Amino acid sequence: MRIREIWVFAVELPLSEGSYVWADGRSVDRFDSTLVRIATDDGLVGWGEVCPLGPAYLPAYAAGARTGIAEVGPALLGCDPRDLDLVHRRMARALQGHPFVKSALDMACHDLAARAQGVPLATLLGGADGEAVELYRAISQGPPEAMAAAVARHRREGYRRFQLKVGGDPDVDIERIRAVRAVLDAGEVLVADANRGWLPHEALRVVRAVRDLDLYIEQPCATLEECLVVRRACDHPIVLDEIVDGVGALLAVWRAGAADVVNLKIAKLGGLRPTRLVRDLCVELGIAMTIEDSWGGDVTTAAIAHLAHSTPEAFRFSATDFNSYVGRSVAIDPPRRTDGRIGSSRAPGLGIEIDESALGEPILIVR
Ligand SMILES: [Mg+2]
Repeated sequence: MRIREIWVFAVELPLSEGSYVWADGRSVDRFDSTLVRIATDDGLVGWGEVCPLGPAYLPAYAAGARTGIAEVGPALLGCDPRDLDLVHRRMARALQGHPFVKSALDMACHDLAARAQGVPLATLLGGADGEAVELYRAISQGPPEAMAAAVARHRREGYRRFQLKVGGDPDVDIERIRAVRAVLDAGEVLVADANRGWLPHEALRVVRAVRDLDLYIEQPCATLEECLVVRRACDHPIVLDEIVDGVGALLAVWRAGAADVVNLKIAKLGGLRPTRLVRDLCVELGIAMTIEDSWGGDVTTAAIAHLAHSTPEAFRFSATDFNSYVGRSVAIDPPRRTDGRIGSSRAPGLGIEIDESALGEPILIVR
């Protein structure tokens, strides 16, 4: 089984709610996603996706993903996609760093490897644990009352976990957190995600002002050192996200006792293989996880479902059904949530069938 061709598609995904706003007034109104189709010499096809949250969130951007795939792709021709470590070694020899470039190729190889065995990808990743995975809903930054109304709306859709986009003016952020917590019941989970938007003095003011409320604080500041200032002054559980970009970063967080939960994004870590490594290390170290990606549509959502579902249930803090935020589907049978939860498909590989007629012409073919 050898990789014969890699096709690359650019897919625009409009946001159903119009726009998505996070710290420092950054926003997107559509996603520029990249789909990868890898075909092998024995007729199998696997799919991968990478979709940065615009060019100013993580060090990743859509055109860079495509340029990088053109650079790395030839190194994978002739490679057996089931040799997943070898796939990564070949990619590392062809291009240093750039984890987001490698993520879609890694995802398509995982799809192929599981399809070739006739098993769901979750089986290859350790085995689906439990019935389904709890999802969180991200709440775009806006006025406090609008965010509380959005939470109330998504609660009616079945979500029980909410991630508020804060990281703005600390006084308004305090109001945002209070307004949203007031519409939630005990047992419903609230995360205030600042996406690095506060300086330590601002974060300290916010956590002191909401000390009486049950919530998690996510990535308050830009660096581990700044986040530790907040950690030492705060008794809320802490989630770290943007700075957890590999094994070294995870171990630094663990040694410092800096987080109770980490957020693992597949493209941030360079694909399912490296994300699985960090995930398994988190299980050994006793750290719970949100398992997701930087964004994406049906392919990304399927990959998240398999990786999250194969993570021990006790360590699953939450995951995301990104394809429910966008107004375009590329799959005939897209993965969908039920009552705020999603399960991984039991069909082979990612378990989705792509409607290739909906994709248009590939923008790049490596053969
Ligand atoms: Mg986050």
